[in-house]
Amino acid sequence: MSTRVIAIDGPAGSGKSSVARALAAALGWSFLDTGAMYRAVTVEALRQGVDVSNEEAMGDLAREVQLSTLPRVSVNGRDVEDEIRTETVNEAVSIVAANALVRHQMVSRQREFAEAQPLGTVVEGRDITTVVFPHATVKVYLTASLEERARRRGEEGEASVARRDVADSTREASPLRQAPDALVIDTTGREVGDAVEEIIQWLKNKTLS
Ligand code: C5P
Repeated sequence: MSTRVIAIDGPAGSGKSSVARALAAALGWSFLDTGAMYRAVTVEALRQGVDVSNEEAMGDLAREVQLSTLPRVSVNGRDVEDEIRTETVNEAVSIVAANALVRHQMVSRQREFAEAQPLGTVVEGRDITTVVFPHATVKVYLTASLEERARRRGEEGEASVARRDVADSTREASPLRQAPDALVIDTTGREVGDAVEEIIQWLKNKTLS
């Protein structure tokens, strides 16, 4: 069975989660928030007192940890849905996500998840169109103005969002990049439903051609 995937990348606050969630619901497909996985590993490291910049230790933790993102984000059976979006985690997650050993573990899990879904999966993150599923049925790159993205992220604030953008797009391991064949949607001032419609149309054209 071939794995059907709609891959969505973009910077923080570009609308990835809202669009991906709504799209998955509209198609009856599964949804995977890969940012929540990096955040959950970060939460567990902080809880265990593991130094997040220790590459080997973080790689071991990422390999051993039990992760789930649905119905709520949990790590080793503990619900961390509310903890993953704290300021401490916003600060540490880019360090964890820059670790190639951690990424290797997450990418395998993301591929396994999608392979196990009966219909298809909408997967969102930073390296989904470029590294995790470079042959996805449809690739989308979402963007929006920094001002609007910071507004959507509420308490996190513009400085933190901008800092994560720079860290995520300049790191050596799988930086955020726009895939050349991605459908680019600027969500500034647009409704979630608008972007969802555009992607469904693009999917229809792709699967008919
Ligand atoms: O999407 P979200 O803002 O929750 O992602 C949190 C962090 O996880 C990002 O800033 C990025 O460092 C990392 N991430 C990543 N690759 C992904 C998804 C998220 O590096 N596929």
